[in-house]
Amino acid sequence: MFNKFIITACIASSVAINVHAQGQPCATDHHHDRLLQKYPLLAEYERQFNEQLGAKLAAKTTAAGPDTATYDIPLVVHVVHDYGVEYLSDNDIYDAANEWALAFVKKNADTANVIAPFVKYIGNARMRLHLATIDPKGNPTKGVVRHFSYLTYNGDDDSKLEPWPNNKYINIWFTSSLGSSGAAAYAYYPSSAAFMPYYDGVISLASYLNTSKTIPHELGHVLNLAHVWGNNNNAAVACGNDGVDDTPPTKGHTPGCVPSAIFDTTCATGYMKTYTSMSGLADSVVDYPDTTNAQNIMDYTYCAHMFSKGQCVRMRTALTSPVAGRSNLITSANLAETGAMNPMPDLAPVADFTLNKAIGAGLTTDVRTQFLTYTNEGSFVFRNTSWNDTISSVYWTFSNGASVPTSTSMTTVTNRFSEPGWVTVSLTANSNAGTTTVTSNSLAYAADTTPVGGVGYSQKFSNLADMHNWPMFNYYNNQFKWEYYNGAGRGDNNCIRYRSFDTTDKINGMAKGDRDDVFTPAFNLQGVSGNLFINFYTSGAATPAGSSASRDSLQIDVSTSGGARWTKIAGFRGTELANNGARSSMFIHGTSSSWVARSVSVPEIHRTGQTFFRLRYWPGNVGNNLYLDDFSIAAFPAELEELSGNAGQFVLFPNPSENGTNLAFTAGNDATATYTISDLAGKVLASEVLSVSPGSTNQVFISRSLVPSAGLYFVTLTTGGNSATRKMVVQ
Ligand SMILES: [Zn+2]
Repeated sequence: MFNKFIITACIASSVAINVHAQGQPCATDHHHDRLLQKYPLLAEYERQFNEQLGAKLAAKTTAAGPDTATYDIPLVVHVVHDYGVEYLSDNDIYDAANEWALAFVKKNADTANVIAPFVKYIGNARMRLHLATIDPKGNPTKGVVRHFSYLTYNGDDDSKLEPWPNNKYINIWFTSSLGSSGAAAYAYYPSSAAFMPYYDGVISLASYLNTSKTIPHELGHVLNLAHVWGNNNNAAVACGNDGVDDTPPTKGHTPGCVPSAIFDTTCATGYMKTYTSMSGLADSVVDYPDTTNAQNIMDYTYCAHMFSKGQCVRMRTALTSPVAGRSNLITSANLAETGAMNPMPDLAPVADFTLNKAIGAGLTTDVRTQFLTYTNEGSFVFRNTSWNDTISSVYWTFSNGASVPTSTSMTTVTNRFSEPGWVTVSLTANSNAGTTTVTSNSLAYAADTTPVGGVGYSQKFSNLADMHNWPMFNYYNNQFKWEYYNGAGRGDNNCIRYRSFDTTDKINGMAKGDRDDVFTPAFNLQGVSGNLFINFYTSGAATPAGSSASRDSLQIDVSTSGGARWTKIAGFRGTELANNGARSSMFIHGTSSSWVARSVSVPEIHRTGQTFFRLRYWPGNVGNNLYLDDFSIAAFPAELEELSGNAGQFVLFPNPSENGTNLAFTAGNDATATYTISDLAGKVLASEVLSVSPGSTNQVFISRSLVPSAGLYFVTLTTGGNSATRKMVVQ
């Protein structure tokens, strides 16, 4: 009677009962297929485990005397957050954990709503859930830990940060969103957890902390329960069963907290089980209810009220099996080691704060604003996020000529800074149990309003002091970040780089989802007409694993509002950045590596007396490092600067073009330069002789009207006895 079943499961995200059933609201198939593909041995593990468990279950049903022991289970809750709504409060977690526990001792009040046919099948799992009071290092804890990470978005196994040993604690992670569209949560059965202990546990949307027994449902999976219709997530499709006798066959219901589901007889009519005696003879027939058990916690109905007795036997069997270390959870030694039976300790608070989106007139900014001038229309907003105890008071201090230098606000402090540079912020949090202080000088940057230059500005990053007004933000404080680099450079030995190198081994970190910025100082571009570029050089590589699908990208933004608002003006993606090919190890720019000139046109609307630029890097999955050097502001693209020593060489920009292109060149040592435009057949379409000063830099506009149609043409320039030809693409 023990079925082979699929190892992953989750439940539908929609809680509204008036929503029509969705096809496949959950990610089981996705996770299951992914695991089996990656770890083919898993299927064998699963088979062996089910054999073991089947034997144990059989032994239990024939053993004398009822199994009445009570088991205690230590839990730890991980909040993976970006200081958004997923930053669950301690008290909400404690309240929810108390609620989860009720379903495992048959004390949830809504068992009173179980329909008559199933009342006698309501099971008591006799399991007590406890938030741990001692962490894996032996330190006191309240059983809640917090991880500040972008992995709160599109959560999956990679978001299961810093698991506590799965043979000592059941880990439960909460995230802002899940990568499996439509899923609210998922967990792994013991057979797969045994194979990959670091992914064991429950991961759930933070918004499902205490919704419709989502967590008891997932803990059911952790303890080897399948959905009541069987080993898949396709509720409401076909009759199936879960290998548990007292949950009649069902299609499952999603959503289904309606009479037609609760009294659904479709698959259950005439459902009887025959049990054989020790002598092998049939000695009893049980006629189970002719209604499906839609109120079962392992259905999708959202009126989940009960585990059945058979499910409780199954969960208790899993909990007393060594597979995935389950049986160790409940040992007295482990309960002592994890402090599961101790009352929650009274611990000092953990002082913590973050920055909100800036406030000010009509601001549309990033989620958090960490770079602003003091003259712009917005203000920094600091928010108290201290936790781990009931906070009785706080005390803030701010450096840099803060408009509010100290505060006792328990919520937010709105501030401006008149002295440029990194702001030192300190927050002390007090409770009855103690006081802690946290200080940061890498969260908020007050940008200088004084421009450092305009057209002609050049920054070679020659020494570290050059970086003093080029703040680099490592928002999530991890290894993927901008950094000053000494060891390679264009023309010298220094530059900046984004350390994007990522391995396919996700246990050691995953870059995808991160982003980091480096900001320029202010430039005075007021009144500059004609072409204007920011120029820089990059040297990058991909990894073999990511070369065909590298998602690294570099985005260039501009602000004329002192950092309050940003506008994207350019982006470079994937293989475009990887000009040095793929490297299996971390890419270090060396003598055989090359630089590529990058030029970004600055539209006139952004040319003010205080224009800032932002270089934003989005590391992709399995990316590699990018080096960046020689940032300048000029009327010509970087490529031309490079050619300035070569009379007769020239550049076309933009190219390809739609509405004409610019031809820029350095004149030879005579007073004329001639350009011609010809088609693929060699026919000359236009020609012009220009008067120039010897050795001067020049630019001429080639009108779109000089060529008859879109296509490929050749431009040839002759000056000072030198000649060069380039392709011109007209779109
Ligand atoms: Zn499920």
